[in-house]
Amino acid sequence: MPRLSAVGISGIHAGEDVNEIPAARRFILGGQVQGVGFRPFVFRLAVELGLRGWVKNAAGTVLIHAEGPDGTLDVFAHRLIEQAPAIARPVMVSDASKRAEGHDAFTILPSDQDAEPDIHVPPDYFACDDCLRELRDPADRRHNYPFINCTQCGPRYTLIDALPYDRPNTTMAGFPLCPDCRREYEDPANRRFHAEPLACPVCGPHLEFVDPQGRIAGDEAALAAAVSALKNGAIVAVKGVGGYHLMCDAASNTAVATLRQRKLRPGKPLAVMFPADGRLLADTVQLTPESEAMLNSPARPIVLSVMRKNHDLSSLIAPGLNEIGCFLPYSPLHHLLLDRFGGPLVATSGNISGEPVLTANEEAAGRLGRIADAFLHHNRPIVRPADDPIYRVIAGRPRPIRIGRGSAPLEIELPRTLPEPVIALGSHMKNSICLAWDKRVVISPHIGELDTARSLATLIRVAGDLQRLYQVQAQHLLLDRHPGYGYRSWARETGLPMTEIWHHRAHASALAWEFPGVEDWIVFAWDGVGLGEDGNLWGGEAFTGRPGDWRHAASLRPFRLAGGEKAAREPWRSAAALLWECGQPADFAPDLLRLAWQKGLNSPTSTSAGRLFDAAAALTGLCRTASFEGEGPMKLEAAASDDQTPTELPLQADPDGILRSDWSVLLPMLTDDTLAQADRAGRFHAALADALLAQAIALRERTGTNDVGLTGGVFQNRRLTEWVSDRLARHGFATHLPERIPVNDAGIGLGQVMEYLYRHE
Ligand SMILES: [Zn+2]
Ligand SMILES: [Zn+2]
Ligand SMILES: [Zn+2]
Repeated sequence: MPRLSAVGISGIHAGEDVNEIPAARRFILGGQVQGVGFRPFVFRLAVELGLRGWVKNAAGTVLIHAEGPDGTLDVFAHRLIEQAPAIARPVMVSDASKRAEGHDAFTILPSDQDAEPDIHVPPDYFACDDCLRELRDPADRRHNYPFINCTQCGPRYTLIDALPYDRPNTTMAGFPLCPDCRREYEDPANRRFHAEPLACPVCGPHLEFVDPQGRIAGDEAALAAAVSALKNGAIVAVKGVGGYHLMCDAASNTAVATLRQRKLRPGKPLAVMFPADGRLLADTVQLTPESEAMLNSPARPIVLSVMRKNHDLSSLIAPGLNEIGCFLPYSPLHHLLLDRFGGPLVATSGNISGEPVLTANEEAAGRLGRIADAFLHHNRPIVRPADDPIYRVIAGRPRPIRIGRGSAPLEIELPRTLPEPVIALGSHMKNSICLAWDKRVVISPHIGELDTARSLATLIRVAGDLQRLYQVQAQHLLLDRHPGYGYRSWARETGLPMTEIWHHRAHASALAWEFPGVEDWIVFAWDGVGLGEDGNLWGGEAFTGRPGDWRHAASLRPFRLAGGEKAAREPWRSAAALLWECGQPADFAPDLLRLAWQKGLNSPTSTSAGRLFDAAAALTGLCRTASFEGEGPMKLEAAASDDQTPTELPLQADPDGILRSDWSVLLPMLTDDTLAQADRAGRFHAALADALLAQAIALRERTGTNDVGLTGGVFQNRRLTEWVSDRLARHGFATHLPERIPVNDAGIGLGQVMEYLYRHE
């Protein structure tokens, strides 16, 4: 073969003798290209096009040397991106002409170990169609095998112990490949070439069913026992990809009631997994094109969906609400379970309330022993937990409520370079943490509420793991200003320098990350409570400006919360606070509390929009005491009618120039028993949407800014958010709502990174 150097720019040298002149090109592809079957894909594509050369992994990128006619190389370059495996997200880093090396074949070369690492940790993937076909094929050697996977699917984040992503560095290290699997693993033309979690019934993990009668080993027998227990109304703890689920028959009132009673979870909605064909799902909830696409997206998330009038689920799945969280099977084990059970199953996180999901067999057996009648274990270890992600379609787009299995670690890019690697510890509630260095941010899956030692231990573990996996050592910690957050003392013990970031500025900056084109903002940060800059509990704030330079511009009329933190779970306290603030009686509240409130004992001043929702839920009688965080606002939203009869909240600037909306005019309407609960709830939503609009208009006059952002947990409320968006649009505002980062406190970590970044320009 003649050795000729390629000349000039590709594509312009096509001539009749083009096949006689091998050009050569060197491609570097970055992004998500490792652990996703990218090299076998490159190999097959090159062979199909008759190209020669080689491909290899090199420090987080894929390096390709290809020789052949120029026109074919162009086709190759195009198809490398266009036809990449579904779970790969390749980015062409460079494409350069090279001297031909005269190869006579295309080969996969061993990985480079040197060079600067640019590491990506893939999330866990749903079972692909090819594997599902084999799973259901009686002639296939993996027929009904619950751990079938390939380069295109299977666990990753929850099984990778260290990088590089090779089998000895995963929890599959303890499962030596059988000869058949080894052949597939080593054959570049096989779809399981270098599928690190590769397994089969001969060499891979297995199921075990355990109940008080004993243990049943063997995949078929264990699965059959679990299905029959579920059919008999039992609660079964099932080990999945990122942890255990507690499962039971979603149509059985008795089973669901028992689960609620044992989990001490009287009201919080339970997620439901539906059989894969989607027929029962469509019969149970109203699907929109957006929600259907989300349900089938690679993360296979839980999607909150409106229930149909007639459905077969137990009414105890989501009492007092009109939506349920539903999802489809994602792992082969879930497919087998749902296929055989033939109906929807409750599949709620196997944890103790608010803690991270349990992952280890022994620990799950101990801690879930009082809740579950039986266990379906398997012996593939889970390195770190990943709860199911949750989405809700709001204002026409799916918005994340929780990042988790299948979507985490979420890797994103900053608009500029950080001075040093940092870990942002996020919030106390809905905690998830960020590791950030250079221009990169890695967001952990949902960890949970930091109220217990176990939650904190998981945070510490994940912080250590992320640094080890990405080979980055944090030099600095970012924290919320609140002195009581669960990670405080651990953060001090690390000895690392720390920077504290105000809670609501972090909310605003997390939102701003998603819209780099916006230079000047009006951002509404409405949530439960976060420590404010005047020492009060904020939560109904508006800022103008940009990351690193926010000005507090608007808020609500302050009120003193009777009982402080307790108000989060006892909406009647917020209701009493509003009434007392206006000099009205609250006969439902104890006299002693009133006296304490008058003296200012344990009654911090607040401007929380979330607590206004709580108060409205209590005053309308929809929820006086909450069994879980957010129950009041959720019930208020679920009950609300379309009655938008306005109640105008007066808007005035306080002595510091901060605009304040006065909620006191809402009290007569909220306490008017002649009005239906649903209409009071509807009018309340409309009044707050109008109040936000009035603030936005006033701030636009002040600043000339037309871009409005909505952030904070209150905007998980679809009705409020959509009514706000409609109003803003009618008045010519551009409204921005996050689509990649949760609007709630799970976004605080990224916001802390953004605030830190812009202070160090
Ligand atoms: Zn597969
Ligand atoms: Zn095998
Ligand atoms: Zn918050």
